[in-house]
Amino acid sequence: MTSDHKLVVVGGGVAGLDIAGHLAGRAVGTRRLAVTLIDREPAHVWKPMLHTIAAGTQEAATQQTPYLVQAHERGFIYQPGEAVGIDRQTRSVHLAPLRSGDEEIVPARSIAYDTLVLAVGSEANDFGTPGVAEHCFTINTRSQAIAFNDRMRADMLKAFAAERTFSVAIVGGGATGVELSAEIVQLVDIVEHYGVAQSRERLRVTLIESGDRLLRAFPERVARAAEDRLRRMGVVVRTGVRVHEADAQAFHLPDGETIQADLKVWAAGVRAPDLIRSIDGLRQNKAGQILVGSNLVAIDDARIVAVGDCASPQLSQDALVPTTAQAAFQEAAYLITHLPEILNGGKIPDFRYRDFGGLVSLGGYDAYGTLGQFGLFGGGFLRGRVAQLGHALLYRRHQARLHGFGRGSLLWLADVLSSRVRPPTRLS
Ligand SMILES: Cc1cc2nc3c(=O)[nH]c(=O)nc-3n(C[C@H](O)[C@H](O)[C@H](O)COP(=O)(O)OP(=O)(O)OC[C@H]3O[C@@H](n4cnc5c(N)ncnc54)[C@H](O)[C@@H]3O)c2cc1C
Repeated sequence: MTSDHKLVVVGGGVAGLDIAGHLAGRAVGTRRLAVTLIDREPAHVWKPMLHTIAAGTQEAATQQTPYLVQAHERGFIYQPGEAVGIDRQTRSVHLAPLRSGDEEIVPARSIAYDTLVLAVGSEANDFGTPGVAEHCFTINTRSQAIAFNDRMRADMLKAFAAERTFSVAIVGGGATGVELSAEIVQLVDIVEHYGVAQSRERLRVTLIESGDRLLRAFPERVARAAEDRLRRMGVVVRTGVRVHEADAQAFHLPDGETIQADLKVWAAGVRAPDLIRSIDGLRQNKAGQILVGSNLVAIDDARIVAVGDCASPQLSQDALVPTTAQAAFQEAAYLITHLPEILNGGKIPDFRYRDFGGLVSLGGYDAYGTLGQFGLFGGGFLRGRVAQLGHALLYRRHQARLHGFGRGSLLWLADVLSSRVRPPTRLS
């Protein structure tokens, strides 16, 4: 009897969870894929909605998918824990001990692989700016989004109860910064309905971007429309401004100006997590992303596949693959189709990235986007309800991939119904 092929996926995000769920139990020649998924979080949250969890306009508890449930339904093993090292010689992934407070629940352990899929995503890049690590929040993970929301609700209530201004400053005018700014304004509009008088007047959100415009990954028309709308919502937008230091009270600019804020968020730059940068002998680009060929296999190790934000595919066409959910989804779909064939030594087509455009949502106020080169009508500008629907559909398609079309549709319906009866913001 031949043994199973051990496929270990590190990172159950947009790409990794899709891959683990769809490849578990698949045949590779005469062998079966025994899939193990490692993630440091207990539950998966669609990362493009983290800003809503950070603002409290969505709750992680109602939008998350516990890994254990997916593992049970899809037939893979879930190993909770943070991967802290990859040993390419012994082909094993080292996990840190699992703790609850000070108590060690599960000791450090290693998990062996025949093939490793690295899908650990990316994090904001502070480019070594002094004070950022100590004084700024980041919104890269479910836990960070919840931690930011806990802090913000407490600080905001204190400020409003004392009838003083509450301020948030966000560095990074990409989708995260833009969407988070709008969502915080929306939160404050909602709390006003709960009797917190003059909350909008007492809120100050400043969005700081070093480039000459917001949303550099989007067409200029989208960026201008979003910036104009943010300003009309009362967000102070500062472009062409580079932060050179952060401390407990403020962001500091090179000319001596300070931008005071109760809470500071760093949402600029993209880099691969430390785990990736700690792997010996795998070539990476400046952002620490693993260089992979046009079949998404690491160019330095045929046993390692990298996907999503932590990978940099070297494609024959000129296409640069952006760090977006759309790209992570396309790469996952490619591997789900072709990985068994790659492992079997078969010939497969190259991965091709298709730009279907991008959408940015300003809370319930508006949304803007384009349909991209390959989208309907060959591109074009979208706004308003159509763009909001397009943004929602991205998430609903992801849910349908995880849970199947029927259950995915029911989850959508459940969200619509519960939005009619539940408070529109997290209250406790
Ligand atoms: C606030 C926000 C808004 C965004 N909006 C959009 C949008 O509107 N449209 C869009 O296309 N993209 C958007 N993005 C980008 C998009 O979310 C990412 O490009 C996408 O999630 C990348 O998918 P991934 O599978 O590579 O990684 P992720 O989805 O980030 O998943 C990585 C997983 O790896 C796990 N992990 C990481 N390190 C370890 C470790 N050492 N050990 C164990 N587990 C680990 C994490 O817990 C996580 O589950 C947004 C991002 C953010 C932060």
